[in-house]
Amino acid sequence: VKKFASTVILLVFVFSSLSNTQPRLEKAFASKVSEGRLRQTVRDLVKLGNRLGGTKSGDMSASYVMKKMKSYGLKTTLVDDPVRLVYENLGWTLDVVEPRGLRGLFKNAWLAGFSPSVTPRTARLVFIGQPDGVKAEAVESAAVLVPYIVSSEHYRELVEAGAVCILSYFPNEFGSYTNWALINDLPASKDNSIPLFNISLNNGERLRKQLQADKKVVLKFSAKTTIGTGQPKTVIATLLGASPEHFLVCAHGDSDSGGPGADDNGSGVAGVIELARVMNSLVVSKALPKPKKSIKFVVWGSEYFSAESYVKRNVIDLENIAGVLNYDEIGTGKTRDCLYFEGNDIPQNHHLMNILQKVGEDYVGKKGFWRESTTNPSQGGTDSYVFLQNYLDKLSLPDTRIPSVTIYTAAWNVPKALLQTDGWLSTAWKGHPDSVNIDYSPYYHSSLDVPETTTEKEPYNMTWAVKAVGIALLRLAW
Ligand SMILES: [Zn+2]
Repeated sequence: VKKFASTVILLVFVFSSLSNTQPRLEKAFASKVSEGRLRQTVRDLVKLGNRLGGTKSGDMSASYVMKKMKSYGLKTTLVDDPVRLVYENLGWTLDVVEPRGLRGLFKNAWLAGFSPSVTPRTARLVFIGQPDGVKAEAVESAAVLVPYIVSSEHYRELVEAGAVCILSYFPNEFGSYTNWALINDLPASKDNSIPLFNISLNNGERLRKQLQADKKVVLKFSAKTTIGTGQPKTVIATLLGASPEHFLVCAHGDSDSGGPGADDNGSGVAGVIELARVMNSLVVSKALPKPKKSIKFVVWGSEYFSAESYVKRNVIDLENIAGVLNYDEIGTGKTRDCLYFEGNDIPQNHHLMNILQKVGEDYVGKKGFWRESTTNPSQGGTDSYVFLQNYLDKLSLPDTRIPSVTIYTAAWNVPKALLQTDGWLSTAWKGHPDSVNIDYSPYYHSSLDVPETTTEKEPYNMTWAVKAVGIALLRLAW
């Protein structure tokens, strides 16, 4: 009886230690994820400017990522994507000359992308309440203040009417853009003749009231920019596995709004770099064997554009992609502390989604992990969509049913409620069972998407996103 009991004890010990290996590895991985490094990376990236693909700032950002990946010992390549039209904002000035009391008014204004260079000049300001019915005689030689987003057609109309500059602001019901500016570009062209400044709601309203009380406002402004062609640079670092099959962990490296882009998408780039560092260090230290499937860590030079050129360049290799895990905005979230996995309505994503959902449920509420997680249906608007059927069809490429998902903690500039896809209610979701409330960032695509308002305020979001994807990969690639 004694012998039998000890055999049972031994067997129990063997089984439990076997089944403990995975959680142990996962914990070892998670414990190495460094919030300090993630924060530092975002600060470093934002200092390089808006990192637009094909500009000097974009090149510096790609070198930065490249250097990090190489320093971890990963095989890293730099790819020149095709030529595209790009702009650089090298500096601008904008101030009130009259009335004197409003001098120094502008806070957190932002020059629109593809604005032309203009030497310093002054102009009186006029207010236009809505885009239709602009009177040319009122606008001639004037700076124009508008409380809406300027379309390409409206821009041309204002230029033809003789306006010399546009100030645009955007009322937002959720408290966004009150003291900072939503960034909207001019049409991508070398031939724009007047600059557009995006300004805050409060600055815009202050000026509107002044003008509507029949008080004269005179502005002084200048802009220094270049508009020309450039090649975005994409960084690809590989943790080599045993088969040609591989996962792609990616993020767009540019601030697609042209603003500081700390959350969108310095946070995503920091996530890719940190994941690469920790995974590789576990393999190098032999805490982990070489993975069965390789992992490619990719930072796109330019959102959509670079991912599109990647799938075109690697057509024969597409069938070897076991899954795409894309980070976009993992650095903040206004109303919830939730980690989202997007794309549960796409059948080919189901296996990958199940793994992510399970990881979400296994660790929710634990120390150092997310307070809430969920999968959600497709919203679009980021690089993971380039690998899916609709996009590949558009490029006349074969659909190889690549699972492709995005991981994020906030999307857009307003909260949204989506109907949850049938069968995807997660025990890690704390909201209504039928819907998913998508969290938002009040700083989305704005002049204040800076570390202080996003990644420094809630750095834990980035660590969660790195831990979730890392743990999912430990279950998928080994
Ligand atoms: Zn983004």
